[in-house]
Amino acid sequence: MKADIGLIGLAVMGQNLVLNMNDHGFKVAVFNRSKSKTDEFLADAAKGTQVVGAATLQELVGLLASPRKVMLMVKAGSVVDDYIAQLVPLLSPGDIIIDGGNSLFTDSNRRTDALKEKGILFIGTGVSGGEEGARNGPSIMPGGNPDAWAAVKPIFQAISAKADGAPCCEWVGQQGAGHYVKMVHNGIEYGDMQLICEAYQLLSEGLGLSADEMQAAFAQWNQGQLSSYLIEITANILGYKDTDGAPLVDKILDTAGQKGTGKWTAINALDLGMPLTLIAESVFARCLSAQKDERVKAAAVLPKTQVAFSGDKQAMIAAIGDALYAAKIISYAQGFRLLKEAAAEYGWKLNYGEIALMWRGGCIIRSQFLGDIKAAYEKNPELDNLLLADYFTNAMRQAEAGWRKAIILGVELGIATPAFSAALAYFDGYRTARLPANLLQAQRDYFGAHTYERLDKPRGEFFHTDWTGTG
Ligand code: NAP
Repeated sequence: MKADIGLIGLAVMGQNLVLNMNDHGFKVAVFNRSKSKTDEFLADAAKGTQVVGAATLQELVGLLASPRKVMLMVKAGSVVDDYIAQLVPLLSPGDIIIDGGNSLFTDSNRRTDALKEKGILFIGTGVSGGEEGARNGPSIMPGGNPDAWAAVKPIFQAISAKADGAPCCEWVGQQGAGHYVKMVHNGIEYGDMQLICEAYQLLSEGLGLSADEMQAAFAQWNQGQLSSYLIEITANILGYKDTDGAPLVDKILDTAGQKGTGKWTAINALDLGMPLTLIAESVFARCLSAQKDERVKAAAVLPKTQVAFSGDKQAMIAAIGDALYAAKIISYAQGFRLLKEAAAEYGWKLNYGEIALMWRGGCIIRSQFLGDIKAAYEKNPELDNLLLADYFTNAMRQAEAGWRKAIILGVELGIATPAFSAALAYFDGYRTARLPANLLQAQRDYFGAHTYERLDKPRGEFFHTDWTGTG
């Protein structure tokens, strides 16, 4: 019996996806550059399964049922192009190459088009959920050549996570749309994590809560509208004790790593002229955290005035919870607004409700909240901004006062809250009918004759003033 799919790349993601596919009754053939990993996998984790190994790409392709489906789970970048170049001569028209790594969407645009010319169908798909998701049900975001979808759909939807019974996997759109949506997902993940970290610092340094008290606060938040995987694991992390009984989190060096997908999201938002301020601040917050030595020096040179919190702690904990919720709404509002702009710019027809559903389970940002977003887009698929959906307009109304209090606490105590604050600035700017950009346009016209439009004249009519009267 020939294999249903071939998978190249037996690192953590590849191995777990293969086992997941096997569990769902699909026969998988595997290949890895270092053959020792294939042998180890077959002798160990895949022992007793119907997974078959191949020593060469030629052998792998020969093991596959037609149309052949070959999935790459390798390091993103040139490695993907190298494998594609090696596979193309071995495949026939109508065969499918799937890239499931974290590839840049523009690479997937290029690969879809280049392979189409050769008669090969390409899918670039986001896979989220890390190791555990890959094994038990990830969120899968496929895009590329739509002619490939029918053949791949049964496998992907079977192995994906399910939210309320529906697979967290649906066709996203043409070319790099799947990888684009995965990129924005990762950006939102950066934002969610930064928001949680700001809440943690306000609770610990601002209110002086112990790790156990903070664990209780996060566990309680996880019972309500903030219920999500990241809040749940944060509660677990805060409760985790080192061998000496002290919270392990207190002993971890405060410099954040990053692999670049948050940065890609922020860069793309700038390219499209979209204010994605919360995610951008979250990327910068990681950058600032990495300047540890400089920060230590600056802390000695620029010490903070010691101010202690003297208010009602329980009320402030609730306010910080409101800040988390309100800022999270802003982050998703900005993220979905970016998706809408990208769809217009790149000619994709994105289904925002389906995207929310794909993120509802399996992935790192999975949450109850995404169900509310799906409902908002179901009600109005053309929604301009989530903030304009009744559900979220009301939610903002309820959380706004607490959100402002939490930010004021940070301002008074000298605790930076870049994501909370950027979100509030966006919220206040977004609902301001008249911004100070009139003055900005005047400045541009003053020094550069860039012209301006007037409120009392039709849009599209431009004026220039000789501001100094010198000609
Ligand atoms: P990875 O460390 O990103 O990649 C390792 C795999 O790539 C191995 O199979 C390795 O082969 C192969 N590889 C690396 N350089 C190569 C080269 N020059 N030529 C041929 N093969 C090469 O593995 P991963 O963490 O499982 O991730 C796989 C993909 O999924 C990546 O694109 C990653 O960004 C994405 N992803 C990862 C996660 C996660 O949580 N880890 C989550 C979502 C998406 P050898 O064994 O021979 O070195």
